[in-house]
Amino acid sequence: MPRLLAAAAAILSALLAVSLAGQSSPNAAWHLTPQSEALVHDPALRAQIFRSLTAAENAGTDPSISHFKVRAATVIVKDGNEDVVLGGNTEYAVPEAIHGETSLINHVTALYGAETTRRALRFVAFFSQRCGASGSCGDCRDYQKAATDYNHLLVVCGQSSDHSVRVTRFRDQLVDEDKFPSASPDTLSITPAELTRLLLAAQDARMGGVTLFTFSNQVAAAALSCSGKIYRAAGADDAAFHYRYPIGGVLQQAATERDYFLRAILVVGEKGHWPVVHYRDRQYGYESSSFNREAGKPPIALIISDGLGNYRATTFEAALPNAFSTADFMPQAVRDFLRTHQPAQ
Ligand SMILES: [Zn+2]
Repeated sequence: MPRLLAAAAAILSALLAVSLAGQSSPNAAWHLTPQSEALVHDPALRAQIFRSLTAAENAGTDPSISHFKVRAATVIVKDGNEDVVLGGNTEYAVPEAIHGETSLINHVTALYGAETTRRALRFVAFFSQRCGASGSCGDCRDYQKAATDYNHLLVVCGQSSDHSVRVTRFRDQLVDEDKFPSASPDTLSITPAELTRLLLAAQDARMGGVTLFTFSNQVAAAALSCSGKIYRAAGADDAAFHYRYPIGGVLQQAATERDYFLRAILVVGEKGHWPVVHYRDRQYGYESSSFNREAGKPPIALIISDGLGNYRATTFEAALPNAFSTADFMPQAVRDFLRTHQPAQ
């Protein structure tokens, strides 16, 4: 597979490995895996899930770059009626994409409003040739967390090859910041002196950024690379609501210098408060940490500070469970990329 396709595939919402049309077994009935049966006791809900999967097979998509179709559906019960709503991914330009989950939930909101979406959207079902272990991308996790009753949301994957249906809890894809393990300067993978440099850099960066729409919770990040350099960035909003995240910012700066391997990223918010590390930003960190993995280096340490001398530390692998990156799809392409993009001497 060309590297471009592999990279584009990595940005897909990937409960699915490959999702191709016309490969289902039309005579087989959808059936829950044994582990999934415990999550769906209600026969009516089971029927809605199966109905959604059948409908999702025909969801429209336009994956013009990757050619990976993400086909999603749900059933909304309102005023005694059961309506199927579809969602599908589309791709454009650099690559960017509208993902299957966000497409679906946006359609539900457009049809029924935000309040009904939060109350009545019980599951997101994907029709896939094969159901893998990956969850939503970070951005889709942020959106589902914001738009749904996410503590009760179910994620469904229907496998077309045998019509088995796997159900998981969306909540299992989330790790709140207060679940990050507590840490002290002398137990981290960087020295206390390096921690101080990162903290000061991030706190100073937080004085900047763009906060015309970010009315609270401004955050900033600083990263320490294996070459000893520090990069920093603050969150920046704009009128199109294409927010630029701080971890994404430091990673882009480091990548611009071909300084691809990072040891630690520290995030700060308002003094006295723990910062929010959005799942989209965790996705950027996870992708970068997968470079470390391919090179045999330790994962990037993700450290947060409340500005009062307290720290929590984890990894992007732990903070974004069941994540995916380009390295999962095309490890050799990542190795070749890193080998041919050595830092300037
Ligand atoms: Zn997504």
